[in-house]
Amino acid sequence: MKRIFFFLIIATSPFVTKAQFGDDEPQDTSWKKIYRESSPKINDLVHTKLDVKFDYAKSYMYGKEWLTLQPHFYPTDSLLLDAKGMEIKELSVMNGTSKTPLKYTYDGMQLKVKLDRMYMRSEKYTLYIDYISKPDELKSEGSVAITDAKGLYFINPKGEDKDKPTQIWTQGETESNSAWMVTIDKPNQKTTEEITMTVPDKYVTLSNGLLVSQKKNADGTRTDSWKMDLPHAPYLFFMGVGEYVITKDKYKEKEVSYYLEKEYAPYARKIFGNTPEMIKFYSEKLGIDFPWPKYSQIVGRDYVSGAMENTTATLHQESANQNARELLDGNAWEETIAHELFHQWFGDLVTAESWSNITVNESFANYSEYLWDEFKYGKDYADEHNYADMREYFESSSEQKDLVRFHYSNKEDVFDRVSYNKGGRILHMLRNYVGDDAFYKSLNNYLTTNKFKSGEAGQLRLAFEEVTGKDMNWFWNQWYYGSGHPKLKINYNYDIPGMAGVAEVIVEQTQKTGKIFTLPIAIDVYTNGTAQRYNVWLKNQADTFYFTATTKPELINVDAEKILLAEKVDNKSEDNFIAQYKYAKNYLDRKEALDFFAKKNMPEIAKGLHDKFFKLKISTMQKIGSSPYKADPVVLSDIEDMAKKDNNKKVRAAAISYLVKNGDPKYLPIFQDAVSDSSYSVAGAAFRGLAKFDSANAYTLAKKYSNDAKGDLGNEISKILFKYGTEADFDFIAKSFKDFPLTQEKMGVTESFIQYLLKINDISKIKKGIDLIIELRNLVPEPYRPYVDPSFKNGFDKLSNAKGKEVEDYIKSVFK
Ligand SMILES: [Zn+2]
Repeated sequence: MKRIFFFLIIATSPFVTKAQFGDDEPQDTSWKKIYRESSPKINDLVHTKLDVKFDYAKSYMYGKEWLTLQPHFYPTDSLLLDAKGMEIKELSVMNGTSKTPLKYTYDGMQLKVKLDRMYMRSEKYTLYIDYISKPDELKSEGSVAITDAKGLYFINPKGEDKDKPTQIWTQGETESNSAWMVTIDKPNQKTTEEITMTVPDKYVTLSNGLLVSQKKNADGTRTDSWKMDLPHAPYLFFMGVGEYVITKDKYKEKEVSYYLEKEYAPYARKIFGNTPEMIKFYSEKLGIDFPWPKYSQIVGRDYVSGAMENTTATLHQESANQNARELLDGNAWEETIAHELFHQWFGDLVTAESWSNITVNESFANYSEYLWDEFKYGKDYADEHNYADMREYFESSSEQKDLVRFHYSNKEDVFDRVSYNKGGRILHMLRNYVGDDAFYKSLNNYLTTNKFKSGEAGQLRLAFEEVTGKDMNWFWNQWYYGSGHPKLKINYNYDIPGMAGVAEVIVEQTQKTGKIFTLPIAIDVYTNGTAQRYNVWLKNQADTFYFTATTKPELINVDAEKILLAEKVDNKSEDNFIAQYKYAKNYLDRKEALDFFAKKNMPEIAKGLHDKFFKLKISTMQKIGSSPYKADPVVLSDIEDMAKKDNNKKVRAAAISYLVKNGDPKYLPIFQDAVSDSSYSVAGAAFRGLAKFDSANAYTLAKKYSNDAKGDLGNEISKILFKYGTEADFDFIAKSFKDFPLTQEKMGVTESFIQYLLKINDISKIKKGIDLIIELRNLVPEPYRPYVDPSFKNGFDKLSNAKGKEVEDYIKSVFK
């Protein structure tokens, strides 16, 4: 699963400090005494057969279920099932085709069932359950990423919103599918599956496994039957229903398909088309061919988490929807596509046995993004992603959390920067330590040994030990069952009295936790542009290394492969960094040097404008913009060239932005030329230039370019329109507010939108605007509303005061 948004929205609210969210621990610490064990297995799921119909008017689902189980080991005459917020109409045990009603108690969350007799180990029995699922009436606990834990979501079920299609999708992780099916909703259970869905004939359906039959009914409905012969965990069950266009590719003989709304179907292969190549790449690397019968991806409306790896049926949120112009700036969703696909092995084939062990799902999915980037776009591209993920972890204030943790406040809390970002970086170090071949053979061993079962960090260690023949306890104890990361201070000496021809490197671990890390790393010593490689271990609070060097080394590069998860203070000289930029080959070597040049205002910063990696060109432009060289004629001329004709749209957009910020009206022809570029980021930067140097016409220009404006162009135009818009522009402005992506900027845009509403007088339009703001606010899970509501209330108070009683009463009726 990939979780994204609420953290961002909440973090930008002026009333919240970042430390209160996402990765931080709650004030109440009573949870620290609760050991979160793996769920005991008394009965095991065997097979789940469902026959369901949807009631769009009530947002109900009518279900009939045949659930086959067997005692795990000990004989038992009772059974505990998860069934959240349901109306249970019948619960029986099947004897052939006849049913015997069973005694049970139900508290709205769990069914305690008394079986008709004692069942022995491996003796299967089948229950029949007739029930109604009522997800909208379920009182559920919120989570950081998911609006609620409703499990089953009816989107615009009565078709009241004309701009939104009617859809159904489900979200199981962590334990929410038991809101629409009766099950043992734990990750260490696995079951085969059949789902039969009856839906209006105009809709398509998607579920796990293969579509085995379709039958049209006399009442205008159709019944689709899906079948999954391989066992998987209940949280990975999925149903999707809606008007979708299906685009089909293939991997070998297996269907690889993309379910998109009509508007985005023409771009299906541009968005998802790398999927077959990804499947091939991961299959080959892992030595395990894609294990499931098909792979489909579907985009759901109002899905407020990022994406979810339901077995063979991944659900993506609307950010996956991109048109041809957006995709020219790169596919913003590709790493998420890779992430969810890799879960089909790490998560779906072998499943974390408990939420405490979520690392065996999420750290791998996170690291798979690196693997795909490296294969497809090169090592610099992947290393940049690696570094960005590491920075996010450093900034998350999660240092004190173990990767595998048996104590947490809420099971949703384990989906944090430690399980994802830090866990991915730990795998990167592990791969470097054992080598590529051993890394992939160990992953193969873990997957093969535990396939169709659950796994935990301990089993991963055993797989690595078996393959490599090395003891791995030290690594697991340090990284998996421990917390924190090293903070390194690195110093260099040469010409030490009495030690001629020797270079000294001192690496100190300065973290305040008292924990000393064991770190195998490479050190490269450069003389005359050539490196001598030394493989060493850091093991002490301070480690000193001596290298023979007849002349003073141009550079000593500690952690030469740049794999460490560490913060560091590296006391290199100017000359060292100049040599580092020139000779050392990694992205981070060059980035560190360029950062140093910028910090010290060295003219060498301009070298970054010609770096072979486009993201370093872009970051260099940002740095030069606040340096003494920002108006240097050579710099300006280089950037002008990039603004006119760089092949990479992102570089071109950054160059144009530079000229807008640091240039003068003489560049207007460049902006005029670029504003109609096919890339939204190029056009957006150019539009900003037009608006700046021709501000009298900014509003007219915004209207002119507003027909097809998304991405950066959309943002720029929205800003101008909100500022200068009139009553007559309401429909367009309301739509651009509604469509504005759910990113960090959206809270700011909401304020601008309220400013706009304050300017107009038509009460019905103001109410529509309020509805849109309420829609956004209601996406925030209830437990977190106290943190965001003050900023919404602030805006609403302004509207109430300015627009009178009718608006005030309306706000009172909708803002609760
Ligand atoms: Zn994931």
